[in-house]
Amino acid sequence: MAIHVSDKIIAQIIEQAEHSYPHECCGFIIGTVLNELEVKAQSKASYYQPCLNQKSDNRERRFLIDPVSYQDAEDKADNEGLSIVSIVHSHPDHPDIPSEFDRIHAWPGLSYIIVSVQNRKATGYRSWRLTDDRQCFEQERLCIERTET
Ligand SMILES: [Zn+2]
Repeated sequence: MAIHVSDKIIAQIIEQAEHSYPHECCGFIIGTVLNELEVKAQSKASYYQPCLNQKSDNRERRFLIDPVSYQDAEDKADNEGLSIVSIVHSHPDHPDIPSEFDRIHAWPGLSYIIVSVQNRKATGYRSWRLTDDRQCFEQERLCIERTET
């Protein structure tokens, strides 16, 4: 399991996460699922699509993506021959590991990138995938590729 993301996308995510502090931020990574026989569950990011945290209360601890935003991102990706490969959110003053709430609301087949923001500064990020039985998350490799200039 791995997701390939450019350093440019990581920088956008970190900027959004730090800017949204102390609230959780969220967004989508749009890209391609790589179907390589040897390696299961690999994807490659094309771009980052930030979205608004629609949660009206407790935005320090929760995020909510409304179904319309999800559908819009999916339709746009579809038109481009791409798909949503990852849902990104931040954990203000909490580690970059999924919460029980995250597990209950996650779907298998997608990557979940979590950014930990401590006192307005992003201190770490990891990518996770829900197991098919939805019992737990497994960490996956997050490969950062340098953008050529
Ligand atoms: Zn979370």
